[in-house]
Amino acid sequence: MAQRNTWQRERVREALTDARGFVSAQSLHATLREENTGIGLATVYRTLAGMAAQGEADSLQSPEGENLFRACTSTGHHHHLICRSCGLTVEIAATDVEQWARATAAQHGFIEAEHVVDIFGRCASCAAASREKA
Ligand SMILES: [Zn+2]
Ligand SMILES: [Zn+2]
Ligand SMILES: [Zn+2]
Repeated sequence: MAQRNTWQRERVREALTDARGFVSAQSLHATLREENTGIGLATVYRTLAGMAAQGEADSLQSPEGENLFRACTSTGHHHHLICRSCGLTVEIAATDVEQWARATAAQHGFIEAEHVVDIFGRCASCAAASREKA
């Protein structure tokens, strides 16, 4: 039983690594379906959530409220710039944000504060492409 799930998890992990940027469980599931792997959406969800919990994947909510995942290339705390057109993702360190978050939490007497800061926009090449079309 556990054996059977292992290859499915591995396949989901690979598909996430192959994806260019942040993807939803649905779109990853659609990719896997094209390959006739027979992996169900529930398994995709479970695997992604498990990876996120173990720090193997980044997870975030898009401005539209969708849960998105990405196989993370950085370990440890970091932030993202995400293109909402093509999904290109840049991992960024944000020293200013770290200081601000720590100071703000301390000011209000909070300890063990965490924060999630991701910037959504359109990348330079998507911006250039839409300028050409106009
Ligand atoms: Zn990341
Ligand atoms: Zn883009
Ligand atoms: Zn931070």
